[in-house]
Amino acid sequence: MCGDFYMLEARTLENFRKGLEKKLRMLQKERLNLGGDEEAVRHADQIDAAQMIMQKHLAATFASNAGAELRLVSAALAKIVEAPEKFGVCEEEDCPNQRIIPLKRLLAVPEAQYCFFCQNARESALSEPEPDEALFDEA
Ligand SMILES: [Zn+2]
Repeated sequence: MCGDFYMLEARTLENFRKGLEKKLRMLQKERLNLGGDEEAVRHADQIDAAQMIMQKHLAATFASNAGAELRLVSAALAKIVEAPEKFGVCEEEDCPNQRIIPLKRLLAVPEAQYCFFCQNARESALSEPEPDEALFDEA
C-alpha cells in the first residue's frame, strides 16, 4: 500500500459527517450562549463583583477552547465533504504510523488532525504532556 492512503467506507464517513455536524451545531450554540454575557454585565450590581470576574474569566477560557474546537470540527467537516480521502489521515508528514489515524481514535475524536503518536509529540513539544490513561491503549 505504498503511497496510497486507506479510505474509509462511505457509510463510515457519512456517520462521521453527521457526528461532526452535530458537534459543530452544539459548539456554535455554546458560543452564542457565551456571547449573551453582556446581559449579565448590565445586571452587574446584583452580582458579587468577584464572582462576576471569575465567571467572565471562565467564560473567556471556555470560549477560546470552544473556538479552537469549533475550528477543528469545521476543518474536519470540510475535509469529509471536499477531500474524504484525507479524512483519518495524519497531517504530520513524518508520521511513524503510516499517517493512519486509527478508527478508534477517530470515533473518540472525529476532528483529530493527527494520529496518537504525532498528537502526543506535538503536545509534549508545545506544553506539558497530558498523562491520560485512556489515550494510551489506542497506540
Ligand atoms: Zn501521525
